[in-house]
Amino acid sequence: MDTLQFILDERERLEQAGLRVGVRTVESAQGAWLRVDGRRVLNFSSNNYLGLANHPRLAEAAREAIGQYGVGPAAVRSIAGTLRLHTELEETLARFKGVEATLSFQSGFCANLAAIPALVGRDDLIFSDELNHASIIDGCRLSGAPVVRYAHGDCASLERKLAENPPGPGGRALIVTDGVFSMDGDIAPLGAIADLARRHGALLMVDDAHGEGVLGRGGRGVVDHFGLHGRVDVEVGTLSKAFGVVGGFVAGRGVVIDHLRQKGRPFLFSSALPAADTAAAAAAVEILEESDTLVRKLWDNARYFKERMNGAGFDTGASETPITPVMLGEAGRAQEFSRRLFERGVFAMAIAFPTVPLGKARIRVMISATHGREDLDFGVASFVEVGRSLGVV
Ligand SMILES: *Cc1c(COP(=O)(O)O)cnc(C)c1O
Repeated sequence: MDTLQFILDERERLEQAGLRVGVRTVESAQGAWLRVDGRRVLNFSSNNYLGLANHPRLAEAAREAIGQYGVGPAAVRSIAGTLRLHTELEETLARFKGVEATLSFQSGFCANLAAIPALVGRDDLIFSDELNHASIIDGCRLSGAPVVRYAHGDCASLERKLAENPPGPGGRALIVTDGVFSMDGDIAPLGAIADLARRHGALLMVDDAHGEGVLGRGGRGVVDHFGLHGRVDVEVGTLSKAFGVVGGFVAGRGVVIDHLRQKGRPFLFSSALPAADTAAAAAAVEILEESDTLVRKLWDNARYFKERMNGAGFDTGASETPITPVMLGEAGRAQEFSRRLFERGVFAMAIAFPTVPLGKARIRVMISATHGREDLDFGVASFVEVGRSLGVV
C-alpha cells in the first residue's frame, strides 16, 4: 500500500473536475508582453499594475542597496535585521498613506499573520467578509478567536451578525475586510463598515493589497478613496503588487505599530525583508508621491478595456477596478478558454474553485499602465475569437 495514495487520488479528482492548477513559467522581465513557456504573449496576468516591477529607478535603488548592504538580512528584525533602509521605507510609507507609522514585513501574507493574532485572541470575536483573502483567513485561524462570517460586502448582514454576537466580558470585536476583492475587483463599502465599527465599538482592519497604487489620490489606497483617514484602526498593505517589488506592511497609529514590534510573530521570528527589496519599494513609493501619471494611465486602460469587453458581450461581473473578471461558469470551460487564448498569444489565467466559488470560474484579466491601446485591442479581439469558438458570445 502506497502511503501517498491519498495524494494520487486527490490529483485524479482535481484533474477530473478541471480544477488542477497548471503553473506556467515566465522567461522574461515583467511588462505588457512576456515570454512564457517559450512564447511571446500579451500579459493579462500579473499584479504589476503600474509597471514598476521592471522600472529602471527601482532596479537602480536595489543595485545601490546591494552594493552598500549586501544581499541577505542575516537576522530577524528584532535582533540584528533592522536596517536604516527599513526605517526609511516605513517613514516614507507612513507619509504616503497619511498614518502615524508603518511596519514592513516579508510579504502581505505575513503582515496578516502578524497583525490579526496581535489584535485578538480566544476571548474575542472576528467578523470577516466571506470572500476575504486566504491570508486573512489564516491570520484569523492563528489568532484563535472565533470567526463570524458575514455575506460579501453586505452591511445589513454585518450589522445583524454584530447584534447577534456581542463579545463576552472583556472581549473585543474585530471587523476585517479586503479593500478591493482580488477575484471580483469590487470595493468593500468601507464607509458604512466604519460607521458600524464605531457604533459597536469594534476594531476595524482593512487589507488594501489591491487598492494601493490603484485607488485614492495618486494611489494612496482605499482609506483615501473613501476619505476615512483616522477611522480605520489597522491597514495591511503589500509591496508586491502595484509597488512592483515584494513585501508587506501594516499601517496605523503609532501605538498599533509599536505593539506589532512586540507581538508580531513574523517580525520576531522570521528574517527581515532584504536590503534590495526594501530600497526598491521605497523608490516605488517616491515615484507615486511625485506624480499620478501612472495611476491615471492604469484607470484609462481599465475603463477602455471593460467598455470594449462589455460591448462585445462579455460579463465582467461586479468589477469596479482594473481587476477584470470575465465570467465563464464551469471550471473546464474557463481552463479551455485560457488555453485557446494562450495559443493566440494572450496570457490570461483561468481561476476556479477553491479560489472562487464552484460554478463561478472565470478568466481574470489584470490591466496595467504598461498596456498600450493596441495591446488592449489585440486582447479584446482574441477574447472575441475564442468566445465565438466556445459559444460564449
Ligand atoms: C495578494 C494579497 C495578499 C498577499 O500579498 P503578498 O505580498 O503577495 O504576500 C494579501 N491580501 C490580499 C487581499 C491580497 O490580494
